[in-house]
Parts: sequence; structure tokens; C-alpha cells
Amino acid sequence: MLSFATAAEAEAALGRAMTPAEALWFRYTAAMPDYFLFWHNILFLFVVFTLAPLPVALLELRTPAVVFPYKLQPRVRLSPSVFFRCYKDVMRIFFVVIGPLQLVSYPIVKMVGIHAGLPLPSLGEMAAQLLVYFLIEDYLNYWVHRLLHGEWGYEKIHRVHHEFTAPIGFAAPYAHWAEVLILGIPSFVGPAIAPCHMITFWLWIVLRQMEAIDTHSGFDFPFNLTNYIPFYGGAEYHDYHHYVGGHSQSNFASVFTYCDYLYGTDRGYKFHKAYQAKTKDLAQYDGKNADVNGLSYAKLD
Ligand SMILES: [Zn+2]
Ligand SMILES: [Zn+2]
Repeated sequence: MLSFATAAEAEAALGRAMTPAEALWFRYTAAMPDYFLFWHNILFLFVVFTLAPLPVALLELRTPAVVFPYKLQPRVRLSPSVFFRCYKDVMRIFFVVIGPLQLVSYPIVKMVGIHAGLPLPSLGEMAAQLLVYFLIEDYLNYWVHRLLHGEWGYEKIHRVHHEFTAPIGFAAPYAHWAEVLILGIPSFVGPAIAPCHMITFWLWIVLRQMEAIDTHSGFDFPFNLTNYIPFYGGAEYHDYHHYVGGHSQSNFASVFTYCDYLYGTDRGYKFHKAYQAKTKDLAQYDGKNADVNGLSYAKLD
């Protein structure tokens, strides 16, 4: 809730006229408690989980000839019931874990300094904060994900996320409830270190999930704008991680490629790309018994 009763008071405190965006924010939030603004994330996440994967899912179900070359695992055809079951399971986790977690976590959000007042942040400030959040989240997520590929973590928790060996957008948040909770921490560390405005926080939550849906889409379209982001892993990069499955020791990073490069966990992927370039046919490659620099592939069936 803003601490100004009128627009005139707000402008007097700012020492200038409000921008159109600030005037809009003032009208929307003047009488709204901050915790309710934070809870908007519940609605945003519901909309993103429901609508963002839909266009590519419809393509996947129809797979017209024109998009077939861009499907990462062309031999895999999933039925509508698989899509529906995935969405249903994601919604169950959403209503049992994600939503309630948002409901109770406002005190922490407030404590770290995420705020909803005026002035609004500039676009430059928002972009800089979002970049920092992506970098921090990517680094921490890399290590948590890598730990989850240990024997105990995989069998007890991470195996659920890997049920999809050919991922789809709806499967981005498809995971064991414990994984949903654990991976919430790397996402929150950035905003906790460098607190932002509520609008930036909303954007962060939405963009991070959109990114995950993009990397699980199962398609690699050349016109995808994310192809132009330096060091961005993308759908092909993470698809390979699912393709190899539980024994994968490659491509742990969620957003960028630099962690896997620095820690040498992209060797399997590099070999796979080299093989692909040689054979020009991913579908014929089963990965069995392949070995590169002492790194064996798991069975892919
Ligand atoms: Zn994994
Ligand atoms: Zn995944």
C-alpha cells in the first residue's frame, strides 16, 4: 500500500510529476496491501504454467511437416493424454505447494527489502537486476541440480522431473514437491541479495518460468529470440540432458552454458553434437556404448 493518500502528495514527495507508468501504478496500488501485490505471483504463475506451453504443445500434437525439422527428438510422439496428465500433475503441485508457499512467504519478501512504492525503477535498473538474478540463479541451480543427480537425490527426488526423456513445455515445472521447494531457493537468492521493486520481482518470476518452459519445449526454432542471448543454453541444450536421462553427467545448467563449460560437464554434449554433425541424423544415434574421453553414455532406452 502506498504511503500517499493522493496523487498530489505522491508528486510532492517525488519532487516531480509522476510518469504515466507511475500514475497507473499509483491508481492500481494506492489502496492495495503489499502482501496482496506479492500474491499476484500466484495468478501470474498459474497463467504462465497454463498458457505459455500451449502453442508449442499444439504444434507437438499436430506436428505439421513444416515444423518437423525443428523437433529435437523427432521419433518421440506423445499423446494428448500425456500432455493432460503432465498439466494435471503440475496443477496439483501448484495448488498444494507453489500457491501456499507464495501465501506464507511475504514476510521474508518484505524482510529482504522488496518494495512496492514510488518511484518506479527505470528500465535499465530492472534489466540490470534481472541479469544479476539470472546469473546467481543459474550458478546455484547448477550445483543443486548436479547434487540431485547423485544416487540418493536422483532416486528420491529428481527422478520425477526426468520421467520426460523428451521434454515438453508443460514438464518444465513437473517435479517432486521437494524439488520444487529446493529449487525455489536459488531463485530467491538474487532478489534477497539485491532487492528490487515488486514489478521487477513479478517480471523475474514470470521470465524465469518462461525460460524453463522454452528450454523444455522439445523444439529448437531458428527464429527463437533466445538464440541471440550470449551463452544461453536453450531447448536443444537441456533437451539433451533429458534425452540421456538419469545417468546424465552433462548439461546441468538451467539457463546459460558457462557453468557446464567451466566445470567440464558439457563433454557428453559436445561429443553428441560432434556425432550429430558427422551423421546428420540424431534419430539413428542411440548412445549405447559410446565413450568419449573416458565418459560413458548411459543407456538411452
Ligand atoms: Zn536432471
Ligand atoms: Zn528439465
